[in-house]
Amino acid sequence: MAGKTVFFDQVNRNFDKAAAYTKHDKSLLEQIKVCNSVYHMAFPLERDDGSIEVVHAWRAEHSQHKLPTKGGIRYGMLVSEDEVMALSALMTYKCAIVDVPFGGAKGGIKIDRTKYSDAELERLTRRYTFELFRKHFIGPAIDVPAPDYGTGPREMAWIADTYAALAQNDLNALGCVTGKPVPQGGVRGRKEATGRGVMFGIREAVCSAEDMKAIGLQPGIEGKTVAVQGLGNVGYYAAKFLEEAGAKLVGLSEIEGAIWNPNGLPLEEVMAHRKETRSILDFPDAKNLPRAEDVLEVDCDILVPAALENQITGDNAPRVKAKIIAEGANGPSTSEASEVLAQKGVFIIPDMYLNAGGVTVSYFEWIKNLAHMRFGRMEKRFEERAYRNLLTAIESRTAKAFTADEATGFARGASEEDLVNSGLEETMANAYHEINEIRRQHGRQCDLRTAAFICSINKIVGTYAEMGIFP
Ligand code: NAD
Repeated sequence: MAGKTVFFDQVNRNFDKAAAYTKHDKSLLEQIKVCNSVYHMAFPLERDDGSIEVVHAWRAEHSQHKLPTKGGIRYGMLVSEDEVMALSALMTYKCAIVDVPFGGAKGGIKIDRTKYSDAELERLTRRYTFELFRKHFIGPAIDVPAPDYGTGPREMAWIADTYAALAQNDLNALGCVTGKPVPQGGVRGRKEATGRGVMFGIREAVCSAEDMKAIGLQPGIEGKTVAVQGLGNVGYYAAKFLEEAGAKLVGLSEIEGAIWNPNGLPLEEVMAHRKETRSILDFPDAKNLPRAEDVLEVDCDILVPAALENQITGDNAPRVKAKIIAEGANGPSTSEASEVLAQKGVFIIPDMYLNAGGVTVSYFEWIKNLAHMRFGRMEKRFEERAYRNLLTAIESRTAKAFTADEATGFARGASEEDLVNSGLEETMANAYHEINEIRRQHGRQCDLRTAAFICSINKIVGTYAEMGIFP
């Protein structure tokens, strides 16, 4: 069983705060809260120089009230039993908020990935998959991993290939993992999904004139100043889509440092500069901040922590100047920090809602794998023909012709990416209004995180109640 459970306790404190608003049976709430299964494995890795290293890895399945369980795989030095348990619990609550029919899981390997060659990372990933397979911790109907901190489509392709080799009779083998490259059974739009979802979530939050007035901001993304911590998968795409929506990036940070320019930091130029110089620092016209974590304290409307947990703490929270904290990462604000920020009137858009775009599109990918067909393949041409017929009818009634460009634009059938992005937008918008409505119903004391927990607790309790207990 777990040693110190600091992060998991923190998730549970938030759960308890929300549970106090409900009248559910205490023992049922206890059952929801516990982490059902944790598998800690240790296995040897042969390094390229022939030496042997023992590697520690975990997979936690928090709740099997819906199957399969789902959650990312991390490669990082902070990976621990506590971390995977906490993150798997967040996955359970996250899936419930966005109505994705999965239980929560999370896994990780405790390594500094920068210290391993590609060949070593491949051996590690394949061995990890084998260990999961032999303990029944992976499979399209059991537990479906996805990318997370330190992993991406390449690792997911290795996992899918290893699983398929081990489970030769499993027709749905590709559904054993999501976030795969498109030619390996991935879905278009998954890579960008979490960051795009972060933008949709922020857009929904800032569109309420009433909520924005309460924190002294005008509604709308346009012109809002934004700082982003971490420019990996989530941070980079969140920054990109926020910039495209008209926000101004004024602070950016990566592991080596942070930069600041109140006149704006053009994202693609910053990324090109980092690629060339291997550092975000010394970007033309920007000021280098003394420490990477100083990005959390810059003057901005919206702060997007998108690196790791425990970044905004009781210590630095009093110095946070942002009016909105949009949690791209999982667990970036400690509960102590959340209390301080609440007193300062900061509006927190919580992780378990805001970064749920990743699991939402992972759900679409899993469905695609089970269907063995690309989204839109059946209907695209049919839709285009129907739209063309409609345009022709309008032209003949009005005696006016559409231009060629107009006709092409209007008569476009939906591609897979269109459908994925539309499903993501629908999910993020609906879920935001659902949790914000709960927040409003419970009055001033109830923040959006608590409302999000209330929302998921109510949904999960409903599932348990209907399910009964086996045997
Ligand atoms: P990633 O590995 O792609 O990127 C993380 C980036 O943060 C890296 O570039 C890293 O160098 C940087 N970083 C690390 N420590 C930093 C620090 N102290 N200051 C500034 N930058 C730092 O990981 P990711 O997939 O983008 O995940 C980031 C967070 O988002 C994690 O909490 C993860 O659990 C969460 N998340 C990811 C997904 C997903 O689909 N990838 C989905 C939901 C939630």
